[in-house]
Amino acid sequence: MEKHEGLSAGFTGRHGGVSREPWHTLNLGLHVGDEDADVIKNRQLVAESLGWSFDAWTCGEQVHGSRAVKVTSAERGKGRFSLQDTLLGCDALVTDVKGVLLTSLYADCVPLYFYDPVNEAIGLAHAGWRGTAGAIAQTTIDLMAREYGSSPNDMLAAVGPAIGACCYEVDGPVIEQMAKLIEGMELEPTAAHEAMELSTDGKARLNLKEINRQIMIKAGILPSRIELSKWCTGCRCDLFYSHRMEGGKTGRMASFLGMAER
Ligand SMILES: [Zn+2]
Repeated sequence: MEKHEGLSAGFTGRHGGVSREPWHTLNLGLHVGDEDADVIKNRQLVAESLGWSFDAWTCGEQVHGSRAVKVTSAERGKGRFSLQDTLLGCDALVTDVKGVLLTSLYADCVPLYFYDPVNEAIGLAHAGWRGTAGAIAQTTIDLMAREYGSSPNDMLAAVGPAIGACCYEVDGPVIEQMAKLIEGMELEPTAAHEAMELSTDGKARLNLKEINRQIMIKAGILPSRIELSKWCTGCRCDLFYSHRMEGGKTGRMASFLGMAER
């Protein structure tokens, strides 16, 4: 996606910021107990390193749902200084406004990126297991289609760094809901097995990245146009924050996606 002129797309790691333990050092989440001033400083550092104005940094509340909302120029910069100011009740943002940097926060969940080069529109979604079960990828694509006339056929997409099946064991209710989703997707047996691998002790290893990629494909995005990150946040706590591996006491990374003003 970075080959497209004026498009900034990426994901931050845990280094290069000013936060102290256990958020050391590039924590971008205001909701995890860190000093607000440090988080804002970190966000400014990231924006600056990307060549973006911090005024463009825009974020949603993230409630582990599957709702997507449209960002207009009036909402540019919402949530960059405070939690109360975020776009409420959503886990995905879409926009066609140049100069808006969509961002969302992570420690293991899956960042999803969508770009429609024909209508010049973008979407950014946060998919934990709940958002994945609620098919937030589909919701985001649908909103881009409705608002900007985007066709999945034209879209480029990416699935960013997140916890891999290697580090993500789940049980009971999660297995139940994900099994329902996977069944409804009518995947080939090998693809279904890759999405969720059941073990004999009633647990399962969940591959959220792959499930989201499959939802994108089902929605009509060409597999060759979907980038899939191999990074596992759980395996690489040296580079990333991992909620699961660090017992919930850690920082947040950000995904970002924006079209520069020309
Ligand atoms: Zn892993």
